[in-house]
Amino acid sequence: MRIIISLFLLSFLTACQLITTKTNTQYLTVLHTNDNHGRFWHNENGEYGMAARKTLIDKLRNDAESKGHSVILLSGGDINTGVPESDLQIAEPDFKGMSKIGYDAMAIGNHEFDNPLSVLDKQIAWSNFPILSANIIDKNTNQPAYQSYAIIEKDGLKIAVIGLTTVDTAKIANPEYIGHLNFITPAAATQPLAYKIKDKYKPDVVVAVTHMGHYHDAKHGINAPGDVTLARNLKPNTLDMIIGGHSQEPICVDKDGNPDATFYPGKACWPDQQNGTWIMQAHEWGKYVGKAVFKIEKGNKELVSYELVPVNLKDAKGNFITTEIAKDQALYEFLLPYQQKGAEKLSGAVGNIDAFLDGRRDIVRFEQSKLADLIINAQAEAVGADFGIISGGGIRASIKAGDINYKDILKVHPFKNRVAYIDWQGPELVEYLTTVGSFPPDAGAYLQYHKIDFEINNAKAVIRSINGKKFDINATYRMSINTYNAAGGDGYPILTEKKNFQITDSTDAQVLRAYIEKHSPIKVESL
Ligand SMILES: [Zn+2]
Repeated sequence: MRIIISLFLLSFLTACQLITTKTNTQYLTVLHTNDNHGRFWHNENGEYGMAARKTLIDKLRNDAESKGHSVILLSGGDINTGVPESDLQIAEPDFKGMSKIGYDAMAIGNHEFDNPLSVLDKQIAWSNFPILSANIIDKNTNQPAYQSYAIIEKDGLKIAVIGLTTVDTAKIANPEYIGHLNFITPAAATQPLAYKIKDKYKPDVVVAVTHMGHYHDAKHGINAPGDVTLARNLKPNTLDMIIGGHSQEPICVDKDGNPDATFYPGKACWPDQQNGTWIMQAHEWGKYVGKAVFKIEKGNKELVSYELVPVNLKDAKGNFITTEIAKDQALYEFLLPYQQKGAEKLSGAVGNIDAFLDGRRDIVRFEQSKLADLIINAQAEAVGADFGIISGGGIRASIKAGDINYKDILKVHPFKNRVAYIDWQGPELVEYLTTVGSFPPDAGAYLQYHKIDFEINNAKAVIRSINGKKFDINATYRMSINTYNAAGGDGYPILTEKKNFQITDSTDAQVLRAYIEKHSPIKVESL
């Protein structure tokens, strides 16, 4: 009986609320950021950082609320990966910082899959806001793998927020972690879901938080289609706005809707609009907080102002573009131990080397490299392999001569791939090398190999020697490889299903660090 009464009361209250909603003019301020990429801390010039971001957001929120406006704070995703101090702590300061700033929801970005899925589960648990994606489907259950949407009430306004993730995630994330996930077309996921939500909740505003990229006039090139394609492929009035990320740009257009190439921090900015849907993005790293103010009247939503507010950005002379925003003291003190712990983990030499190891793209994707030899030595030693391989695209930075610290190593290996190995029979190995040894230069797939001597002759691998000994087709050989290439990354044949394949618990960075510690001083000539 009590239940029936409260349900009745509830529906009565909702009805009242609906009546006030429909008769009054209301305002909604949407605050947004995207592509944090580990920037919980300000940079060496004192730009951006979560503590100053919180001061700014608190002020914008208070200003709006004092005028009776509703406020929502959203993120377009990619919180993970980019700064070693954050990466080493699996973005714990970033997600906990966002919770303290008061985010209401975020989209799952492709970089949320750089770590094993158990890490994303942890990050979801750390966050007091929903982390959303409606187009990531678990192949086993055929259901969304993550929360698809949230209904957020803000002072009488009901806001539906749908999350979406670029389908490119299937190509660029570590295949080992996402093999059981299907990234379906965002519009196909959104249209039926939006109907369902509108029917069930009658929201005043429908927002998509997305991590798909904004490509002017839908010209997405080799990237998967982004926000413009999504807006154009939905029935009009499906979404009021898209709060995006991934292309890491300020979206500002001129009066004809063409990109404003002259945008600079502090300049006025007007967002893109496609098929009646506003599309906004606030560049990257928390450099700006986007601020959109909507007037909502009789179901009509009008964008009355828009701004990209710089967060302590400086001009070329090193002066703040706008008045310096003070850091929120409590958040600063909360984040400081994370920054110190991260710096501690990174500083201090782990070893040294007598010459420069060139890891630039135009070297490692074109010719055999000494840096690859060092990496393969480390991985082969870790797993007792006879030889090893890595794709050129897996090497991301050079190592300078002299002392090497962990930060240098993490720049070479930012992806936290684990080291693995496979035991080959001679004929299988010939077949495998025929494939991977034929990848052309000028591509991430270009093969780096070490402790094996072979060539491709008449479209077939001819192996001369392995680990200094003449090749024997009847012998078994152990090859080291990382999990990215073993799981099919860069188009390599998939090894993870093979019975002689093993993954270790060590990451490529950990293994390289251990090798440098053990073998220093390292002489490049002896690699
Ligand atoms: Zn991204």
